[in-house]
Amino acid sequence: MSGIPERLQAVENAIVAACGEARRPPEGVHLLAVSKTFGPDAVLAAALAGQRAFGENYVQEGVDKVRAVAEALPDSLPGTRLTWHFIGPIQSNKTRPIAEHFDWVHTVEREKIAARLSEQRPAALGPLNVCLQVNISGEASKSGIAPAEVEALAEAVARLPNLRLRGLMAIPEPADDFAAQRAPFAALRVLFERLREKFGPDFDTLSMGMSADMRAAVLEGATIVRVGSAIFGARDYNK
Ligand SMILES: *Cc1c(COP(=O)(O)O)cnc(C)c1O
Repeated sequence: MSGIPERLQAVENAIVAACGEARRPPEGVHLLAVSKTFGPDAVLAAALAGQRAFGENYVQEGVDKVRAVAEALPDSLPGTRLTWHFIGPIQSNKTRPIAEHFDWVHTVEREKIAARLSEQRPAALGPLNVCLQVNISGEASKSGIAPAEVEALAEAVARLPNLRLRGLMAIPEPADDFAAQRAPFAALRVLFERLREKFGPDFDTLSMGMSADMRAAVLEGATIVRVGSAIFGARDYNK
């Protein structure tokens, strides 16, 4: 797991630099380390280097990792516990382990899924933080709800007792050109700001930007950037 502390530091530096460029305070952007396909040892290496929030895409892999990391974490680790964010597609028969093991879900796009998550959330854990995934690039992407339908879904989610509606998330189509990267993030930000007037200060999260486009995302107002390969290295799905 050599190199993780150094790469983590480089990503943090890049976020601070982008915040400087955007004239935003660096505390306003939280780094979510996306650990999918990497083992508990990689999470531990990042945690020991100070990282606290981790993202997972696959339910079984994620739950196994949450457990393994909790067992392996040294008691001496300074600060509070780690937080786990579910950022993958959700099948309705997989909501229970998500509700029971994660602190956040970024990929809610259907009321039925939201209702199950709320129903299955153990009371002792407090409300599950939820972002709605928006299909901001239109036809190009299959995931996420259409921008025109976001407000109705937000109203439904806000009524569910064990969920806390926190904001919006998107995965735009990859683009190499910086202006092309910024455009969908700008569109998501406009939608976010409009909804925030309605849903109030709890609605505070704009989850956008990954390894290849986090600078564009921070310039457009991201409050969580989800970064995997720039921290953990290239993923090998066949291992
Ligand atoms: C894998 C993944 C990321 C991280 O992607 P990188 O390009 O490795 O930074 C971010 N968000 C989601 C939803 C992902 O699935």
